[in-house]
This record gives sequence, structure tokens and C-alpha cells, in this order.
Amino acid sequence: MSTSRLRVRKGSARLLTPEPTAAPAPARRIVMTEPTVAELAANFAGAMERWSLAGFPTISPQTYAARSAACEPCDYWDGAARFGLGKCGAPDCGCTKFKRWLATETCKHPDGSRWPENPS
Ligand code: SF4
Repeated sequence: MSTSRLRVRKGSARLLTPEPTAAPAPARRIVMTEPTVAELAANFAGAMERWSLAGFPTISPQTYAARSAACEPCDYWDGAARFGLGKCGAPDCGCTKFKRWLATETCKHPDGSRWPENPS
């Protein structure tokens, strides 16, 4: 009967227990706000005023695609809302995907705009 022996060379020992890792960051709490009808109307009127005063500028299809690419995975975006027009739940927003076409509008994400700069 043979016996095997475990040889441990000096300096080759390994730590068998996992090293403690940093605790995962707590999940960020997204606050979806539901604007009142009056707030929605005021937001819409403000957007239309800005757009008309600027001469009704729209963006290119490429910029629209870039804006959409930012909105679709956003935690504030609900694409099924408003009969498929979608809804942004960011504070002070409530827009649909129609807003993405307006060169005068911006993303109101609380951490800063997620839309590309310099719409064309
Ligand atoms: S407009 Fe901004 S905050 Fe709203 S859904 Fe799009 S990326 Fe998110």
C-alpha cells in the first residue's frame, strides 16, 4: 500500500478561503414621477413654444436613432405607455418619443442628459 504525501513548497501555499470583497453598491432607487395633467400641459406648451420660437427645427434621423438608443434602456423610459408613444418618467419630464425629434428639447435625466451633444 502506497501513501502519497502532499508537498508544499515554501512560498507556494494558497489561501483557501475567498478574500472578502467589497459589499455591492446598493441599487439606485429610481423615482418615477407622474406629472399632473396641468404639469403635462405646461411642459408640452413650453416645449412647443421653444420649438416654434426657434423655427420648428428637427433633428436628423441619425440623431433621432442616437437619442432613441439612449432612451430605450433608460430606467425612466416606459415604451408601452401612452398607446405605444412611450413615456419618460424622469422628474419634470413626462415626454413621449415625439420629443426626440425636436432640436430644442433635452433629456432631463437627473444625472445629466443621456442624449448625444449637438443635435443636427
Ligand atoms: S429623455 Fe433621458 S431620462 Fe427620459 S427616457 Fe430618455 S434618456 Fe431617460
